[in-house]
Amino acid sequence: MSIHLRAHAFAANPLRGLAGTRSSGAVSPSAAAETLRALLDGADAAAGHHLSRVLPFRRGRPLARSPDPPAPSSSSPSPAPPPAWRLAWLPPSRVPGVPSDVFVFLGSHGGEGGGEEAAAYWAVDVSEVEGARFGGAGEESAFVDLRTLMVAADWRDKDTMGELAIAGHARALLEWHNTAKFCGACGAKAVPTEAGTRKQCSNESCKKRIYPRVDPVVIMLVIDKENDRALLSRQSRFVPRMWSCLAGFIEPGESLEEAVRRETWEETGIEVGQVIYHSSQPWPVGPNTMPCQLMVGFFAYAKSLDIHVDKKELEDAQWHSREDVKKALTFAEYEKAQRSSALKVNQICKGTERGQSTSSDLRVESEEPAPMFVPGPYAIAHHLISSWAFEGAPKVPSSFSNL
Ligand SMILES: [Zn+2]
Repeated sequence: MSIHLRAHAFAANPLRGLAGTRSSGAVSPSAAAETLRALLDGADAAAGHHLSRVLPFRRGRPLARSPDPPAPSSSSPSPAPPPAWRLAWLPPSRVPGVPSDVFVFLGSHGGEGGGEEAAAYWAVDVSEVEGARFGGAGEESAFVDLRTLMVAADWRDKDTMGELAIAGHARALLEWHNTAKFCGACGAKAVPTEAGTRKQCSNESCKKRIYPRVDPVVIMLVIDKENDRALLSRQSRFVPRMWSCLAGFIEPGESLEEAVRRETWEETGIEVGQVIYHSSQPWPVGPNTMPCQLMVGFFAYAKSLDIHVDKKELEDAQWHSREDVKKALTFAEYEKAQRSSALKVNQICKGTERGQSTSSDLRVESEEPAPMFVPGPYAIAHHLISSWAFEGAPKVPSSFSNL
């Protein structure tokens, strides 16, 4: 069974795109910033004509809450659904003592005449803020690792996936602020501008504008058309039994197709001919030094089949038959992983879980473990592999036509 998504995880952010920026009720960054400043200065809530909501982050983790789901009725045969997490938005009055210029504008929502009041949404890093209390006892909210929230997100729930996209965008912007502290041209301090969505060099004779950074990565499923097999690989940092697509960075002066061919050749010694685009996914949960990667997904047809693994890059790479790949895409296991992560987020928010381990969230447990599995539906690798296994490449599935 293949899992079709409306959009990739972290894409289709409800605060962005045409719906978020061009609606009649959209709040401009400058109007939102003016209202936020007034509220932080203690002006009454009547300042401005929209609500302001703030999402605090601590060390890259958003504040989340996880209300208990309603208990199933005794006549219901199905088990209780796992709790759905939500972002814990706060009014600006709950984030005292933080200068207004470190808040980052995320977008606005509502106010189009549908009865919902327009609201401007902000993110702020409170890692260094002392004295203010966020979450904790009685609030049932906590700072939760974004990867844990990603695995815990129910991919069938549009609202949860929208909140995941907002949190990903917010984390990418905050991490970018942390890494882009100085002007790359003259070395002077870079200061936030345009409600934190851009930066500018503070040196009057330079004033270079600095834009949020996106690091593109090619990710490819290499296919042996003649023998109906796909190439999957393992990195040493993967959890046991997990196999995935090849991926790599693009070098200056290289096209995406050339990067696919070069990376495949360097890592596995396989020559690639035709390269076909599938879809792309923002990936704000990569290394801290890369605030937001953009995974650009391709099918790549092999021209040679002998594998020579570059052991510095990969632990292993092997051809797998379509039947084996289908077995690795076990829907029940993804559902189980999502469910156990959702329960874990619930416990973290209630303060009953000690420590947060990321690696165990990504492990798919099973009583009779399949010989291998591939990443879950939150990752583009899953959809590249699933598209080939169930639908045959290179046809792009209709569910992705709007990506
Ligand atoms: Zn400068």
